[in-house]
Amino acid sequence: MNKKTITDIDVNGKKVLVRVDFNVPLSSKDPNDDITVTDDMRIRAALPTLNHLLDNGAALILCSHLGRPKSPADKQFAMDPVAGRLSELLGRPVTKMDDVVGDSVTAAVANMKAGDIVLLENTRFEEGEKKNNPELSKALADLADAYVNDAFGSAHRAHASTEGAAREIQAKGGQAVAGFLMEKELKALGTAVTNPAHPYVAIMGGAKISDKIKLIDNLLNTADKILIGGGMANTFLKAQGHALGTSLVEEDALAEAKRLLDMAGDRLVLPVDVIVADKFAADAKGDMVPVTKIADSKMALDVGPGTLEKFDEALAGAKLVVWNGPMGVFEFDTFAEGTNALAYMLAKLVEEQGTEVMIGGGDSAAAVRKAGLADKMTHISTGGGASLELLEGKNLPGIAALDD
Ligand code: ADP
Ligand code: MG
Repeated sequence: MNKKTITDIDVNGKKVLVRVDFNVPLSSKDPNDDITVTDDMRIRAALPTLNHLLDNGAALILCSHLGRPKSPADKQFAMDPVAGRLSELLGRPVTKMDDVVGDSVTAAVANMKAGDIVLLENTRFEEGEKKNNPELSKALADLADAYVNDAFGSAHRAHASTEGAAREIQAKGGQAVAGFLMEKELKALGTAVTNPAHPYVAIMGGAKISDKIKLIDNLLNTADKILIGGGMANTFLKAQGHALGTSLVEEDALAEAKRLLDMAGDRLVLPVDVIVADKFAADAKGDMVPVTKIADSKMALDVGPGTLEKFDEALAGAKLVVWNGPMGVFEFDTFAEGTNALAYMLAKLVEEQGTEVMIGGGDSAAAVRKAGLADKMTHISTGGGASLELLEGKNLPGIAALDD
């Protein structure tokens, strides 16, 4: 993926439209509350790009989606809290618009000087955003001289702000390039796709099984071993003929899981023991059982110590590890042990053997941060779905649209 970046273009005196990923968690869903940003990681991740553009004489028009608003009436998804936090982090004023495009935005942008920053309203307040509507794309592109995409987390979607605007800028002779965050993601995850170091061990878990099963198929072409835990493992264990009680199992994916098991043989490593409970709750009591002894009334909510030992052995000597999806319901302390223990194992591999460890997936990244090990990993992707699609070998529209 040879894409131009912000270091390849001259932005001095130019207005630059930057698609950022400011889809951050908020403190409340009630529009009447004083809503704040509860985790500003994604805003901080964009700062190198924004500061580079500002230092080089650009005026910035920033846009992002935030949450899943149904209409502009869903004021709890307005960008105001993001503008506030961004302004604090940059130490500069940020003018927040109440619209994405339209007369008020055009007027504000017309008066912009180098160093000025405008943040447009939530792009999903416009119906045309998800439809990649050409008029909306053109209206966005008409605001600026150049386009920068730094929103890796949205690059797998062909939306007006991620794909259409890039094409429209190019149509009027402007440049469309990647920001530093996008570049970093492409470099890190790109090598895992095109030129992985071996032994390459992939670890899959979490709950979005049908989304991820395609990824396992693809990983079998590149990875030497795939370790499977979390909710994902339940479906594979059931496909092997085990009773899973009330555990999360994706029945629709059983046939596919069976096909993968037949194809992969011992390259797929499954749990040998799990932590089960009566209910899905923070106060549920956990019991360790072998996967052959899960009672009808129980659900598997974490991997057990025998499984972790097996995973540790499978990871020995690995040069590259890609991890997507927690090993258990890490949100509940009782069932966070498997995920935390795995995070420690990986941190140790990085430190002691120089193993490259990449984490993809929103919840996996959150789990690693919660365990305080984020700094120990080689790369933590900011994009969940986007990192998965990239690892699947798919072409991401938001990246494909950028200048080669
Ligand atoms: P990521 O965001 O890293 O891609 P997913 O969204 O696929 O991961 O899955 C994360 C979720 O999976 C977490 O909320 C976690 O509680 C859940 N999970 C993990 N293991 C289990 C399990 N055994 N049963 C039910 N849910 C699980
Ligand atoms: Mg998730």
